Amino acid sequence: ADAAVVPALVIGTGYGGSVAALRLAQAGVDVHMVEMGMAWDTPGADGKIFANTTTPDQRSFWLRTKTKQPLSNFLGFPIDKAIPRYTGILDAEEFAGITVYQGRGVGGGSLVNGGMAVTPKREYFGDVLPTVNPDEMYGTYYPRANAELGVNMIRSAWFETTEAYQYSRVGRKHAQRSNFPYVFVPTVYDWNYMEQEAAGTAPKSALVGEILYGNNYGKKSLQKTYLSKVRATGRVTISPLHRVVSVVPATGGYKVTIEQLNTNGDPIAVKEVTAAKVFFAAGSVGTSKLLVKLKATGALPNLNGEVGRGWGDNGNVMCGRANHMWDPTGKLQSSIPTLGIDNWAAGGAFAEVAPLPTGIETYASFYLSITKTPNRAQFTWNPAAGKVDLNWQTAWKEVSINAAKSIFDRINSKEGTIYRTDLFGVYKIWGDHLTYHPLGGAVLNKATDNYGRLHGYPGLYVMDGSLIPGTTVVNPFVTITALAERNIEKIIATDL
Ligand code: FAD
Repeated sequence: ADAAVVPALVIGTGYGGSVAALRLAQAGVDVHMVEMGMAWDTPGADGKIFANTTTPDQRSFWLRTKTKQPLSNFLGFPIDKAIPRYTGILDAEEFAGITVYQGRGVGGGSLVNGGMAVTPKREYFGDVLPTVNPDEMYGTYYPRANAELGVNMIRSAWFETTEAYQYSRVGRKHAQRSNFPYVFVPTVYDWNYMEQEAAGTAPKSALVGEILYGNNYGKKSLQKTYLSKVRATGRVTISPLHRVVSVVPATGGYKVTIEQLNTNGDPIAVKEVTAAKVFFAAGSVGTSKLLVKLKATGALPNLNGEVGRGWGDNGNVMCGRANHMWDPTGKLQSSIPTLGIDNWAAGGAFAEVAPLPTGIETYASFYLSITKTPNRAQFTWNPAAGKVDLNWQTAWKEVSINAAKSIFDRINSKEGTIYRTDLFGVYKIWGDHLTYHPLGGAVLNKATDNYGRLHGYPGLYVMDGSLIPGTTVVNPFVTITALAERNIEKIIATDL
């Protein structure tokens, strides 16, 4: 085993980890980032770094021999297919009651997500992070996060005319006719670039359906924003295909045990590093699994009883509607959603009008709803199986389905339309088996203090979505980024 000492070690390279690494490096601290996924900086045999959604291959999934697409069926037919096992980009991690989709690689979820960059309405912020001062967040940290992430809006004149957003205009029309407020959703896709794609003057990405397995051009993932600044500091080392498996107190800080993986997912070396400070930024699931295991197995026994608790799915539920022939949603659908239906106040649902980029006219409207749900699950260590379980129940999605119905039952009744029953199985309306938005497991001011310092262990911090107790009311990454900006500023000012 190698031996080395680093001042700061960051576990994971998603939003929380990238913010922490950048601000620490700018403050003069040398940082080592450890990422279990791949670097995603080298083109494959087809000349592209990332695979297209329509042609999944080994790059598409984390250690699976068959794809597990969120929309599993089309016209009732299963669409998953065999792929070689590989350390691919999208992890469909299965727990007993829910499949949790996550990004794997340098950039974390920013590699695979829809790029929707939404700041929650201030009036709901108390439901998101009740112990955080909203003045600071809305005055300083949300603006900082939005600026660093490159958040921008679609040009309205282009939205109104482009074939690629016919599906959103149909979604808007149906929302309006049922008297639902709708909003344009800011994103981190470079809208100027997308207009060039449409004009045929730049290689296509969103307009050929790239999204779930990565965008080759227009999306400003963390690789292009925070992580490019991280590299420019010259103070940060990033180790892809390295997975943290243990953190224990040691002289000078913490001894961190790291497995190096090959692209088959097998450990090929074990390394030990001593770090003065360790920042857990492995995502809600990754951080929760590590902390729960380390507490239960005696590596970090003084972590408190809040570790593993307060996990939620952000109320995610998906559905499709079958439109009339006079409401086609278009053969060409941009993979980046940019319109939402807001029925949060009355019905507890915020629905993104999502694309179905199949390349054919489907007459379908497709939606990802974020809903208000009281259900929270807990991670626990299962010694017999040697793994961490999550006690989420599929039936808990009933609340979310009902909230989503507050929008779509009304639209269907107004339009004389019905739900699609062919997208998640045979005669199955609701995509209620999954989440894209895992949140919680090491909740702020419970498992940690009000700035992410883990109780019981000075020098251990949580920086990611596990701090947020189960909901962000809208899509989460702007809030995760803004909270990380707030916390790391305090930590640098007081703990270094
Ligand atoms: P992550 O971004 O998940 O980063 C954690 C990183 O840690 C990962 O790279 C992981 O591989 C690594 N890691 C985990 N365990 C270990 C370990 N033991 N050792 C080393 N490394 C480890 N949000 C939005 O706001 N808007 C959207 O449009 C949107 N669309 C989405 C679409 C999809 C398909 C998915 C999956 C997510 C989407 N999200 C969206 C959610 C968003 O991407 C996540 O909320 C966000 O990435 C979480 O940030 P994080 O910093 O908590 O962790």
